[in-house]
Amino acid sequence: MSFCCGASMIGTRGSIRHLRTQIHNVPIVFCPVCHRIEVHHLVEDEYEILAEYAMGDGATEVDFEEYSDALSGEALFENCVNHEHEDPLELVTNQIDMSLDLLRVAKALDDVDWEHQLKNRLRVMSARRDRLRRKKTLGGYR
Ligand SMILES: [Zn+2]
Repeated sequence: MSFCCGASMIGTRGSIRHLRTQIHNVPIVFCPVCHRIEVHHLVEDEYEILAEYAMGDGATEVDFEEYSDALSGEALFENCVNHEHEDPLELVTNQIDMSLDLLRVAKALDDVDWEHQLKNRLRVMSARRDRLRRKKTLGGYR
């Protein structure tokens, strides 16, 4: 688990600009407090190799996933996810908060595709949250 500012960092995939190259789908960790972004430590070497290769090739865009045979996302981010809150409503609320943070990052990175993806995700999750809220009310908490 990575920590920054005392908060655990969030694992996700994002696009990172390395000099003139935009590298997509890089596993990264993101600090929700200060918005620092780091390449996931398990793929750091691969990331550097790909960045160098892309630079030598003069590529302006590469997809990390196409070149990487790193672990799948789930295994990579296992340690980053907070399983403490089992309440589904709380969980989805946390996920919405995270996505809103990530949306700020996507905007800062000027990554339109990612932004679009996050907005779609947010729409789905808000619908889910509303449904859960309704269920909770109908379930009659006294
Ligand atoms: Zn931080």
